[in-house]
Amino acid sequence: MTKQTSQSPGVSVDALGRPLRSLRVSVIDRCDLRCAYCMPEEDYTWLPKEGILTFDEILRLVDAFVSRGVRRVRLTGGEPLLRSGLVDLIRDLARRSGVEDLALTTNATQLARWAGPLRDAGLKRITVSLDSLKPGRFETLTRRAALDDVLKGIRAASEVGFDELKLNTVVMQDFNDDELIDLVDFATDHGAQARFIEYMDVGGATLWSAERVVTREDILTRLAAHFGPVTPEPSRGAAPAESFTLPNGARVGIIASTTQPFCRTCDRSRLTADGFWYLCLYAGDGIDLRSMLREGATAEQLTTRIAQVWGQRDDRGAEQRLDVPERGALYQIQELRQDPRREMHTRGG
Ligand code: SAM
Ligand code: SF4
Ligand code: SF4
Repeated sequence: MTKQTSQSPGVSVDALGRPLRSLRVSVIDRCDLRCAYCMPEEDYTWLPKEGILTFDEILRLVDAFVSRGVRRVRLTGGEPLLRSGLVDLIRDLARRSGVEDLALTTNATQLARWAGPLRDAGLKRITVSLDSLKPGRFETLTRRAALDDVLKGIRAASEVGFDELKLNTVVMQDFNDDELIDLVDFATDHGAQARFIEYMDVGGATLWSAERVVTREDILTRLAAHFGPVTPEPSRGAAPAESFTLPNGARVGIIASTTQPFCRTCDRSRLTADGFWYLCLYAGDGIDLRSMLREGATAEQLTTRIAQVWGQRDDRGAEQRLDVPERGALYQIQELRQDPRREMHTRGG
């Protein structure tokens, strides 16, 4: 049965009292990079093309989610800018009054070309993944010599003036943990906020090991050693990142998903490019909404199903991972090949 908050009729609330507020929509499972923490393998099983949702199908699902409480939509992938016509989808989503916050996560290899059209289409917030400012290191990490393109993309985004530009870095021990200061300074120079993410043992991260994780505490210590006292900002609500202010006025975010998970306030869920709905980044299985759509479900049937499923949600995947002894990668490659929706690049970060 669907529970509803007293303040917000129509908002679905899960079994742990968490409202349905945020939807991450993967628009494509393909990517032009091969980041070592996300796609370290040589070969991948791709989603069949005929299964990928059309924009019309995505919009119908977003409308159904909005009617059950979703207010924030983030487009992701794979690499979302590889999806042809993405600007048209953004324009349609930006026009929907129920979508109060529309954002995009991208690796920025194509952003120099698209920053202006995206802004003109109504996109307000953009997050770019940037794990190193060193060209050789960037190439080693991503298996493409694309740092120049990415930096051009970030410059373009900075110039067209999004309301918010964030630069996400997955921090890995002995790989890029010596670049924290440079990344903060680079972000500041581009009117952006640097955000440091703990390396997560999600699906796809087959090279993950606990030794490779640079913790929130380590990150704060390193920032304080260089910049001086780091001041936490007031409560983050349901946001994954904690924000801090440095003595020079710069703001920095830390996402401590591995060592200090924030499942208790998690209002996020994810839709794969082929229409499977995952209630948690760590969930083994998703709910097939595409079949419902393609079998002619009405808007009401979709919203009823969403409400039923969310009402039973009790996922807290990252918290439960804390109890795993001798924690290693979540999946081995064979398991990912059997079910590519377990991949981070398929369900969307
Ligand atoms: N391709 C786009 C990009 O990289 O920005 C969007 C998709 S990517 C899967 C979304 C986010 O997931 C990125 O910020 C990436 O850093 C993050 N991510 C992927 N694997 C991760 C891991 N093992 N640990 C932490 N973050 C990860
Ligand atoms: Fe890297 Fe994003 Fe591509 Fe994963 S989906 S390999 S994080 S660019
Ligand atoms: Fe939410 Fe699952 Fe991530 Fe916890 S692990 S914050 S429940 S998506």
